[in-house]
Amino acid sequence: MDQNNNSIHDFDFSLICNYFSSLERQGPGSDEATLTALHFAESIQPGAKVADLGSGTGSSALLIARQTQAHVIAVDAFADFLTKLEHSATRLGLGSLVEPIVGDMAHLSFERESLDAIWSEGAIYNIGYEHGLRYWHQFLRPGGFVAVTDAVWFRSNPPQEVWRFWNDAYDQIDTIDHKIEQMQAAGYEFVAAFRLGSECWTENFYEPQHAVRKAFVRQHTDNAFAQEFIKNQEFEESIYAKYGDYYGYAFFIGRKPADK
Ligand code: SAH
Repeated sequence: MDQNNNSIHDFDFSLICNYFSSLERQGPGSDEATLTALHFAESIQPGAKVADLGSGTGSSALLIARQTQAHVIAVDAFADFLTKLEHSATRLGLGSLVEPIVGDMAHLSFERESLDAIWSEGAIYNIGYEHGLRYWHQFLRPGGFVAVTDAVWFRSNPPQEVWRFWNDAYDQIDTIDHKIEQMQAAGYEFVAAFRLGSECWTENFYEPQHAVRKAFVRQHTDNAFAQEFIKNQEFEESIYAKYGDYYGYAFFIGRKPADK
């Protein structure tokens, strides 16, 4: 790729990040779901070391720190998200508990068995559920917990339009049962799995984007990439509106077996 191309892509990338950094969540989720998952993750105690991988602007990292007084290392590829997270942590008096680190969830520099828990909401799809779970296993101490959300089919035989959408977007979408098996095959004891409610997608994720989209379209009238990006966001939302009973997110909580 030549220099010119590179800078165009960087520019597009930073446009997308700008769009999402003005939102509180960069993926579907809810405080309620995070709290329910936390209840299962018994290794997250005051002083525990937790990594939130693909933390975005910190919807889960801040809640975990506030709720448990654990030390949360928020890892994200995009520095602007972490700047926002750092401001929120300071504002909430959580500055000493939350540590933002720009990094790649596929190439982590933690020491082996150094983490009490690994958290990741709406982000493991970036490197694939199976690969992510297998790769992250080495960083957890025995008895440590992993908690992730990922895309799942709720119903069998999805109509072709939604099947195609997901096949293009993330072909590791699967049933909850299969994802539990994959978690076990990756070396974890299965602890719990539960569906996220539809409000995690509508009220908490898509609806806050409506105003942001309007402003974004106005701000980038001459930018074909920006206009196309917004069209894609609208299309994704329309697929959810039409087929949201076929798919969604589920939380998966597992535990690395304790040393005998
Ligand atoms: N957990 C947040 C963000 C989910 S969106 C929430 O639920 O709101 C997915 C996040 O993963 C984005 O913030 C994106 O910047 C980050 N990301 C994508 N690829 C990554 C990678 N390879 N390493 C680290 N973070 C990554």
